[in-house]
Amino acid sequence: MKFDLAYCLSLDDKLSIYDVRDLNFDETMEFDSAKEHFQCPNDACRLAFDAANVLTTFNAKNVNYVRTPHFKNTPSTRHVADCPYASLKASASGVDGAETDDSREEHFPSELLLTRREYVRKPSNPAVAADVVRDDPKPTTEASNTEHPSRESAPDKTSVFAHPVECFVSNFEDKDLLKRMPLKIGEHTAPYGSFFKKIEYLTDNKGLIYWGKIKEIKDYTQSFRIDFEQKVWFKQADEAKKKPYSVNVYLSKKLIENYRKRKAFLEEIKHAIDSEAELYCFFYGVTPELKQVPSKKNPEQTFGVFSANIENLDHFVIREAPGLSGTQSGQL
Ligand SMILES: [Zn+2]
Repeated sequence: MKFDLAYCLSLDDKLSIYDVRDLNFDETMEFDSAKEHFQCPNDACRLAFDAANVLTTFNAKNVNYVRTPHFKNTPSTRHVADCPYASLKASASGVDGAETDDSREEHFPSELLLTRREYVRKPSNPAVAADVVRDDPKPTTEASNTEHPSRESAPDKTSVFAHPVECFVSNFEDKDLLKRMPLKIGEHTAPYGSFFKKIEYLTDNKGLIYWGKIKEIKDYTQSFRIDFEQKVWFKQADEAKKKPYSVNVYLSKKLIENYRKRKAFLEEIKHAIDSEAELYCFFYGVTPELKQVPSKKNPEQTFGVFSANIENLDHFVIREAPGLSGTQSGQL
């Protein structure tokens, strides 16, 4: 079992592990999960112990992870008897591999918020902060509600794109579950299973999360181009039958230069260029459209390609996803 959230002492708020990853890589925020104190998300349980009773993280700082990130007990973490997380204590073996259900993300956010969550840091003196937590007789949720309007990001909403992607990837075998769990982005709600659309079917519907296996990543002066392996079969108005078209997305280097997670993003994409592993790309916010581009060999000729410029790197992920291989045929 994994914790869906943990209380972060210095931010006085409950964070998902994906929030923590986002903060770790954010160069505009002073945050290092290795130095932070994370505690049980159950308020009563947390307040029953001192600040030294902490949870630990798994895959909080690894840019290119394969196994599902999460919070977990340390061998010495304690919970009060009626804490809903107390039963998880059994998994506190201290050995990562001993947890049998590590490999699935069980906490499905019902909504991806398109506005980033904002954090307000508590006074930096940890001794003072700990005293406030211990001596405050009121449940901290009350204060949090009024102080943080962004509070609605917890518990079942997220603003970190990697979270719904991990839900989809790690539960890919469980088609019924993906059909059952709803996901809302903007005005559109659909089950995870249909909100995530294979890139070859992108003409079915606009505004979804498109995903596909990467064929090649090209490093140009102004941009990176991600070519997908699968093609879109499409019939133009003046044609008799469907023809296959390549699909790609462009990432502007200027966009990356100004990105708050620039270093982590460059590490992710450089790793992807060098990697021998099968990699998948997920993105939301743009739908590739048919464009005519000049042929390299014969500049007077043009050919059609489905293409889009990624506009927001927060809604773009390249990753390994071993469970998705062998999914060439058939639609989810
Ligand atoms: Zn607890």
